[in-house]
Formats: sequence, C-alpha cells, structure tokens
Amino acid sequence: MRTLNQQNFKKQQAIIRVDFNVPLNDAFEVTDRTRIEAAKPTIDYILDQGGSCVLLSHLGRPKGHDPKLSLSHIVQTVAEVLERPVEFCTTTVGSAAEAQAEALEPGAILLMENLRFHEEETAGDVSFSEQLSRLGTIYVNDAFGTAHRAHASTTIIARFFEENKCFGSLLEKEVLAIEQVMEKGEKPILAILGGAKVSSKITIIESLLDKVDHLIIGGGMVYTFTKALGGKVGNSICEPDYCDYALELLEKAEAKGVQIHLPVDVLAGDAFSNDANQQSFDVMDIPQGWEAMDAGPKSQAIFHDLILKCKTILWNGPMGVFEFSNFSKGTIAAGDSIAEATQSGAFSLVGGGDSVAAVKQFGFEHKMSYISTGGGAMLESLEGKTLPGIAALK
Ligand code: AMP
Repeated sequence: MRTLNQQNFKKQQAIIRVDFNVPLNDAFEVTDRTRIEAAKPTIDYILDQGGSCVLLSHLGRPKGHDPKLSLSHIVQTVAEVLERPVEFCTTTVGSAAEAQAEALEPGAILLMENLRFHEEETAGDVSFSEQLSRLGTIYVNDAFGTAHRAHASTTIIARFFEENKCFGSLLEKEVLAIEQVMEKGEKPILAILGGAKVSSKITIIESLLDKVDHLIIGGGMVYTFTKALGGKVGNSICEPDYCDYALELLEKAEAKGVQIHLPVDVLAGDAFSNDANQQSFDVMDIPQGWEAMDAGPKSQAIFHDLILKCKTILWNGPMGVFEFSNFSKGTIAAGDSIAEATQSGAFSLVGGGDSVAAVKQFGFEHKMSYISTGGGAMLESLEGKTLPGIAALK
C-alpha cells in the first residue's frame, strides 16, 4: 500500500480524488462539513511538502450539466475549512481546465467542476480518465465513499500513473480500520448487525461468519430468525421467504464455532409510531397487533456483558427503530456498551449508513475507535470484496 509519505510532493501537482458529495440546503449552503474536514489532512500534507492540489469530486447524481449541483456552491466552505484560498475551475477536463491547472503555483488549490456533469465519469471512460490525468503529476485517492466504484476518477485514472499514485490519509485510515477487524482483529471478535432486513445483509453475514467469534443480530432482522425458530412475531417486520436461509445460517454458524446472539426480550408498539402504546414481550412470543421495535432491557444487559468481553467490535445497523425516541434505548445502550469497551482498550469500528447516523445522533462520535465515512464501500469491504479504487492503487 503506497501512502502519502512514500511520495515526494515537492514542486509536484497532486490530483486528489476527494469525496465532497456534501448536503446543500435550498440556499445552496453546505449543511454538513464532515467530508470536507475529512480531506483536510491529505491536502495539508501535500501543500506543506511544497506541492499543489487539484481537487476532483462529484456532487449528487446530475444528469448532464446541472447548475444546482455545481461545485461552485461549495468553494467558499472548502476555503474556510482548509483555511487557504481555493480557486475554482468551471470545467473538469479540456484545454481551458488544463491551462488553469498548469498555472497553479506550489501551495495553491484548484477545485474542478462536478465530475458527474460528464457521463464518462461513471462509465469509467478511458479517454476521459486520460484527460483527467493531465491535470497533475501524482494521483492521490482519498475518497473512500466511492472506492467501490470503477469510475474514471476513482479507478481508471490510476492506469496513467505508474509509480506516482498513492492512498490519501483518509483512505488509508479506512483500509487499516477494516483490516484491523477483518484480518488482524484481536479475539474475541464481535460483530453487531442490526438494521431492517436480513435480505440486504446476507453476503455480509456469510463473510463475517469466517471472521468473528460472536455475532449479535439486532433490529428488524431478528424476527425472520425467531419466526424460523418457531416463535410468534406479531406484526413485527419479517421476511418469511428468508426463514429457511436464517436456519441455514444458524447451522453454518454452529459448524464454524460462531456464537449467534438474538435479543431475549423486545419493546413493541401497537402501531409503527413513536407515540404508539408500548409493551415488553419475550422475543419468541409477540402477540398479534404488536410490532417489536427495540431490544428490551434484559437483552441490553446480556449484550452489555458480551460487548465488554470482546476485544474487537464491528457495529453495522441500529438495534431498533432509533429514529423514534421511544424505541431508541436498545441502540443507545449498544452504543454506550461499545464506548465503554473502547475506553477499556477494545478496537471498535462503526460503519455503514444508519449506525453511523445513530452514533452521531446519540453523541458517541468520539467514543469509538473508528467511524467509517463510506456507506456502500464499507458494506462491500465487509462482504470481503476488493474495492476497485483500492485495487487500482496497488
Ligand atoms: P439498514 O439500512 O438495513 O441498516 O436499516 C436501518 C433501518 O432499520 C432504520 O431506519 C431502522 O428504523 C430500521 N429498523 C431497525 N429495527 C427495526 C424494527 N424492529 N422494525 C422495523 N424497522 C427497524
């Protein structure tokens, strides 16, 4: 893995693929700067070494040129976060773009227009990639969020740089965090998988059975398992077509020596609403008219003890409908337990969509060892896939 400190950036121009796909409000203001902040260490490093930076990113999913999704809206915020002046280029490739890039002095930053204004970007077009490669002398990928895509700027462009290409520090951290769980995890290793559906987590569960000692299954996935085991699920979310698969998974886990832990009790509501009437039930005995939406207190205590025994913890997916404050206690309890385990020396990685949102919402952001910035890329890594953006740098 070639890292930033293995490249000499003095008088070189780095083309950095960043992930500035940030949320904008109706006034086109950036409402969450996290992704821009995350790219700062790489940009600072290169500039401090005497290089210049050309920044490439996408924003949203434009169909052709769409002024609403122009990266010009974010230039000022990027300059504020980086605490340096940032030039903007109204095109992404072509002679004008190349001339503007070529005129950059060491220490300067140029942000190019939205890559996805060109359909060649997502198509992974080779000639578009070659045009992008003319904007600098070293290619740096720091966009973990798009590393699972074989797009022009994330993967194909790397062909045009033989030795002079490397991981940015954010991408490096993401890859190391995943390795820390999937390859080098200190035992016992625990994965906590929550979220809505078994069907969307199949490949992850299969891949994790080869890596972990314990697997907690939480969230809406639970009720496909309990139904398969002969339990009553009431109105809880359930995928009957996956019951056989759930039993197969339990058998596979046993054969591989992986202990699966389901909640023993649940908090249910009489409607899918925060204000629903609430009642606790045994996980195997949820009556009609009741929908389980959270892990109950006994389960929280059992999970707490298990989490504190583990040295490596991966968390993907909430333990219940955490968006409803009355059904968020199981998710908060899991976050608390993981934070405590981390404090005592365990390595904890939180990744994939909603668990990251939950961790931020409940204030655990700085209490975990690492929080992944990439949803789909993280999930594909957990599935055991090699991401094309990462393979292209090796
Ligand atoms: P995922 O994207 O698969 O990680 O699923 C996240 C979603 O699962 C969140 O929006 C949760 O509200 C939802 N979820 C978690 N537990 C349950 C449950 N018991 N019933 C219905 N939805 C749930």
